[in-house]
Amino acid sequence: MTVPHTDTPALHTLRRVFGYDAFRGEQQQIIDHVVDGGDALVLMPTGGGKSLCYQIPSLVRPGVGVVVSPLIALMQDQVDALRALGVRAGFLNSTQHFEDRRLVENEFLNDELDLLYLAPERLTVESTQRLLDQGRISVFAIDEAHCVAQWGHDFRPDYLGLSALHERWPTVPRIALTATATEATRAEIATRLNLTEARHFVASFDRPNIQYRIVSKNKPEQQLLELLTTEHRGDAGIVYCLSRASTERTAAFLSQNGIEALPYHAGLDARTRAANQSRFLREDGLVVVATIAFGMGIDKPDVRFVAHLDLPKSVEGYYQETGRAGRDGLPSTAWLAYGLADVVQQRKMIATSEGDDAHRRRLGTHLDAMLALCETVECRRVQLLNYFDEQATPCGNCDTCQSPPESWDGTIAAQKVLSTVYRLDRERRQKFGVGHVVDILLGRTTAKVTQHRHETLTVFGVGTDLSEPEWRTVVRQLLAQGLLTVEGDHGTLVLTEASAEVLGRRREVRLRTEPKRPTKSASRSRS
Ligand code: ADP
Ligand code: ZN
Repeated sequence: MTVPHTDTPALHTLRRVFGYDAFRGEQQQIIDHVVDGGDALVLMPTGGGKSLCYQIPSLVRPGVGVVVSPLIALMQDQVDALRALGVRAGFLNSTQHFEDRRLVENEFLNDELDLLYLAPERLTVESTQRLLDQGRISVFAIDEAHCVAQWGHDFRPDYLGLSALHERWPTVPRIALTATATEATRAEIATRLNLTEARHFVASFDRPNIQYRIVSKNKPEQQLLELLTTEHRGDAGIVYCLSRASTERTAAFLSQNGIEALPYHAGLDARTRAANQSRFLREDGLVVVATIAFGMGIDKPDVRFVAHLDLPKSVEGYYQETGRAGRDGLPSTAWLAYGLADVVQQRKMIATSEGDDAHRRRLGTHLDAMLALCETVECRRVQLLNYFDEQATPCGNCDTCQSPPESWDGTIAAQKVLSTVYRLDRERRQKFGVGHVVDILLGRTTAKVTQHRHETLTVFGVGTDLSEPEWRTVVRQLLAQGLLTVEGDHGTLVLTEASAEVLGRRREVRLRTEPKRPTKSASRSRS
């Protein structure tokens, strides 16, 4: 049989070792570039096929491919999977026994490895560097490269040390890979990793099979249960919560309601965590209720939904988490429930967070982008892709495309809220949160109102045209638009510079009308 001339060593390896017919997207160009000794910065969405981009060059080039990865918990799995394919892989990290480490070091020195996975903190240790000096390295792969960016959301100080790779081993090509990167993060990765000469490969971040939906939160557990029972019965999925306690609560709630669900968070002991993770990977139709500690690097193709019960802190985080749905290309759901309390809580967390002002501003910018995505009246996908500096047309598949939200002139409502906050501002030492503001607008003589004689305020009772939930929606959107903010750890509402424009009638406020919540039976017809 004649070998077709297209059968390059890379393609041959793809077929023989990995059993795939053809490269996907830009894999071929990336691999050729690295095999030829070039540096590369690869941006590809989760599930896009980044691993092959460094695994194949490691196999094709002489020597051992060294993969830097922060995902220590997954190294064993990754190495096992490669060994099952006949690839000689090993790892070095701090969880290992001394003898195991010795064994891998010897394999490396004897050129008996194709791939060596390393935790970043290992690489900055002098003894590891000396070890690497004694072997032959084919390529350095820096996985989850966004961890080097302080601007990003997963910063790991150990990654900063990786800029030294180039100085110590200038002839070894380097490939940095990430699934999350705005223009700013990409530039930061290139500078900090000393990858200024690297060729950039930027794949589209669109995940057309994922349907994005963001709903207004009122009874989150019930809303989640309804989603799962009407649309995702028997499906595997991930539910993200902010706190450990709520992952446990939600997992128990789902289990009581006939949906098998396991909690996952950093507070569980290592054995339970590993057991829950491996059940999720191996069994069909399990739901994991997790904090964001779960999922980085998890490769389960048939995750049918990712649900968020709390607001993610950034669009990057949201995008990465939702990206774990539908890696097999089949229709999947990204569903988020979000409400006023989320905004208040996150603004509060930022206000009281450690670090300098620049850090707080950065967190604020991340949150603002996330809120803009939640409150948009336009296509969610367009908004998401624009965030990653990509152009797109309305998708026809997300919630806002399918039932476009209406908007209304909320200037007067906004003025009522802002002038109430303004009046309360004079009693600054007091802690007046959203609840109290709404009570005043609705003219309720609560104990707190009477105690502070707030029934004498001119704004008392001026808001009876809207209901309490409607006022909370208004306040939420004012917070999202930066027309109001939160101070201190009690969630006291305070005005911003932009508030003055609204109070001075120099600025109109457009608000989004909450789409009518479908009744139980109507929701069945949703696709
Ligand atoms: P990423 O690291 O970008 O999230 P992976 O490297 O884990 O993505 O790849 C996602 C899935 O796609 C894996 O199951 C992988 O085996 C598969 N895959 C990658 N490249 C190809 C290809 N060329 N042909 C078929 N399947 C592929
Ligand atoms: Zn859309």
